[in-house]
Amino acid sequence: MVKGPESQNQYDIIVVGAGMVGAALACLLAKDSQGYASGPLRIALVEARPAPRFNPDQFDPRVAAITEKSRQLLACCGVWDAVASKRVSPYQAMEVWDAEGTGRIQFDCHDIHQPSLGHIVENAVLVESLMTEIADLDNIDLHCPAVITGYETNEQGISILLEDGTPLSAQLLLAADGANSAIRKHFEFETVEWDYGHQAIVSTIATERSNQQTAWQRFMPTGPLALLPLNNQGDLKRCSIVWSQETAEAERLINLSDKQFCAELSRASEHCLGQVLEVDKRFAIPLRQRHAKDYVIHRLALIGDAAHSIHPLAGQGVNLGFADVQVLAEEIGRAVERGLDLGDLSVLKRYQRRRKPENLATMAAMEGFKRLFAADPLAVRLLRNIGMSTLNQISPVKNQLMKAAMGLSTN
Ligand SMILES: Cc1cc2nc3c(=O)[nH]c(=O)nc-3n(C[C@H](O)[C@H](O)[C@H](O)COP(=O)(O)OP(=O)(O)OC[C@H]3O[C@@H](n4cnc5c(N)ncnc54)[C@H](O)[C@@H]3O)c2cc1C
Repeated sequence: MVKGPESQNQYDIIVVGAGMVGAALACLLAKDSQGYASGPLRIALVEARPAPRFNPDQFDPRVAAITEKSRQLLACCGVWDAVASKRVSPYQAMEVWDAEGTGRIQFDCHDIHQPSLGHIVENAVLVESLMTEIADLDNIDLHCPAVITGYETNEQGISILLEDGTPLSAQLLLAADGANSAIRKHFEFETVEWDYGHQAIVSTIATERSNQQTAWQRFMPTGPLALLPLNNQGDLKRCSIVWSQETAEAERLINLSDKQFCAELSRASEHCLGQVLEVDKRFAIPLRQRHAKDYVIHRLALIGDAAHSIHPLAGQGVNLGFADVQVLAEEIGRAVERGLDLGDLSVLKRYQRRRKPENLATMAAMEGFKRLFAADPLAVRLLRNIGMSTLNQISPVKNQLMKAAMGLSTN
């Protein structure tokens, strides 16, 4: 399917957005299609901003807890070894507790005979590794930094116009342009969304005690606090934090001096890692839950946060995005095999049918968790605490939960 020089700006697929999801999607499509009898797909990847760079001397404040299933997808993209050679932090256990009682639950990878429950990976490490791989693929053209100024759809395909006057055309446009997707807005996709009135404070901290390769999460009525373990060449005294708070409180915390912030965080984490000794620059990210009613129209599909963004409390956002990538790549491969138009709605609807139920179910579960832990009545608190402690003692159920959270088969 690779076109000659006469159709330089004619592609099979245009992917807009080279964040973790768009870059993984472009990479997987380009690689998978190299074995197609009809020839590799020709892909344009359009990104507005220069790719973030991995800095060995500093942690990216944005990290993601990557499940085993997502790790396998990144291995299929050919980038997991590069990611691991830069910096990844496997975590072996998870400790979750209720600030308003005695409810506590522990998960340990050894109970299900796995080397880890997942990996904490800096966003910059992931994106840089994907972009390096993409640079080596002949069938992807990267347009970055590039601003899109127009769109046009007709029977033959879909076109976008870049600010420098370059037109790009394809059978299919894939929007991986994040939670505030301009493409979703331009094509008037309907969404269901609500503001949490919360912001997530993210940063990197140094603690008195080792993080024990454990992800720590304390649920408070005002929002969850997560301490995600980082491994800096064997130094286990750093964590990435995600602290969700109501907007006014988040602003107060952001404006504290480092010393005051460390003291408040030590208290909020119940000194689970001793004192918090240092904190890097803090960032506050507004939290909004959003789900597009449809992910697809003729010649266009939304993917990753462009289609759904969820509360970060269970660290599932990009894992859902990577699951979208896998399914969409499979459906595109199936369409190529059958000689179908890649932008045909029937092809894209198969992707939507396979992904929407899981995305919606995960979003509903996160919303339920959030409300459960925000609830104040004594009866709810009591049941919540009894529920957690009881679940903690039922190994088979706990083990199934761990496998499901890792994206592994629970059979
Ligand atoms: C505090 C916090 C903690 C989180 N922790 C986790 C976690 O532990 N695990 C997890 O799975 N998920 C987590 N998430 C969710 C995760 O970060 C997102 O799901 C993920 O970043 C979505 O990736 P994406 O590629 O879809 O979108 P983005 O990361 O937003 O990337 C979109 C890309 O598109 C580009 N772009 C935007 N507009 C245009 C345009 N018009 N033209 C060209 N390019 C454009 C942007 O520059 C960007 O590069 C967390 C989120 C938050 C806020």
